[in-house]
Amino acid sequence: MSLKDSIQRGTKFLRQNPQLIYTLSLSILIPLAFIYTGQNFLSVAEKNQERIEKDRIGLMQDTFVAFAAEFLDDPDFLQERIESLGSQNNSIITFRVLRKTGNSQFIIASLNKNEVGNEDLEYPQEYGLVGLNLEESFILEKFKDGIRHWQAFRAILSNDGNLTGFLMTEISMEHIDSISARNIQIAYIILAAIVAVIVLFILRHARIVDYTALYRRLSELNQLKDEFISIASHELRAPLTLIRGYADELKGDPSDKDKIEIIKNHSDQLAKLVEDILEVSRIESGRLKMENQDIDPADIVENIVSMFQGQAKEKGLTLDLVNKSSGVVTIDPERFRQIITNMVSNSVKYTLQGSVTVDLETTRDELAVSVHDSGIGISGEDQKKLFHKFSRIKDERTSKVRGTGLGLWITKRIVELMNGDIVVESIKGTGSSFIVTFPLKDKQS
Ligand code: ADP
Repeated sequence: MSLKDSIQRGTKFLRQNPQLIYTLSLSILIPLAFIYTGQNFLSVAEKNQERIEKDRIGLMQDTFVAFAAEFLDDPDFLQERIESLGSQNNSIITFRVLRKTGNSQFIIASLNKNEVGNEDLEYPQEYGLVGLNLEESFILEKFKDGIRHWQAFRAILSNDGNLTGFLMTEISMEHIDSISARNIQIAYIILAAIVAVIVLFILRHARIVDYTALYRRLSELNQLKDEFISIASHELRAPLTLIRGYADELKGDPSDKDKIEIIKNHSDQLAKLVEDILEVSRIESGRLKMENQDIDPADIVENIVSMFQGQAKEKGLTLDLVNKSSGVVTIDPERFRQIITNMVSNSVKYTLQGSVTVDLETTRDELAVSVHDSGIGISGEDQKKLFHKFSRIKDERTSKVRGTGLGLWITKRIVELMNGDIVVESIKGTGSSFIVTFPLKDKQS
């Protein structure tokens, strides 16, 4: 691929993901800003250090020159002072006191004793320049074997202001430079660490931006999926009703009776699945209509119990309503009917022998409908995912029972939409109790 192609592809990718431009700019600009500020800070610190050092040398010469003028005729004393100064400060390489005689200058005291008495021919120009400003030290920077040195020259004046001699000091900056090099190194390491942390933060931020884009896309897809399910289910409903209708009308041969029954059962099962899927889609998209009213639902519960009597009897089960307490709750009566129907239907479906009892009780704050059965029960592990979508317990006793695994999920959502709660208590092999509670009207917060 040519460079031009790569650039074109890169630009296209950036155009499709504009959030990346923002992230890229941040990840370049912020570290650059930090590096720039860091550099500035270091150079200011370096300049300050130099100024302090120069002041220090100037001060040392100021102090020495003050009495050097007086003791120019006592070189031994000056020699002693220089040696004591040298022993206290290792960075002083050269320290000379010179007497000016005509146009020459002779060393009268020095850190290097051997050169005492010699004429200083090393720095004739520098001594000339010192003559231009008698009040201040003249400082030069030199490098010797890669090490920085400072040479400072200063005039010695007699009481009446005549130039009588010079002070020459050379200081090695090796120690100071190595300390500041170490400090700069540490500063750069810290700066690099800060930049790394910032880049990490920005990359993290980039991922969050990506997640936001992804979330938006997922929401769109989810909506598409909901619309698809809703349309597909509606379209399925019409032919199913037709099949069910024609199956009802079929007389057929006595030998076809079983087959007709199978058609009926399966189309019922399919219709229930379509209904449940439509219900899930309505709940998930917030389209489920709730028409809450203040009612006492005792009659509805009684009606459902009598509706299931036939089915229970067919299976040899007893089905009873043991309490019929009164209490007013704010609920949608049709939705309430739907959830109690699902609970009673499940108990009848999953009980092979024994009883199903429905208990309607009111406490001080709540109205509770409990459906107890002596059915197959649900293990603790299965109870955890009981209210999940499509959750069906698969074993030899449930395999022949038809169901969608959506009933309890729908029930729980509707109960919650009516400010109620649903819980299950069950022992595998012994039976189950499903208890749904709603706050009594006067007790609602
Ligand atoms: P469906 O009954 O259509 O499969 P539900 O959501 O109503 O779907 O129930 C989910 C699963 O919970 C059922 O498949 C069954 O395994 C279990 N279940 C529900 N009610 C009972 C009950 N009373 N006793 C035992 N198992 C039950």
